[in-house]
Amino acid sequence: MIDKEDGKILKILRAGGTVQCPECKKGKVTHKGNNLHHFSCDKCDFKINID
Ligand SMILES: [Zn+2]
Repeated sequence: MIDKEDGKILKILRAGGTVQCPECKKGKVTHKGNNLHHFSCDKCDFKINID
């Protein structure tokens, strides 16, 4: 459902950027603490992992 968006998001996150959450459109998807492979939205349950 959000596969196309995922590609775009991953690209930005890998580059160290922050993206608007594709689920709630309100939160921001940022990494969790020191873990640069797991990102999540600060408003909803959206999560994304980067390998
Ligand atoms: Zn969200």
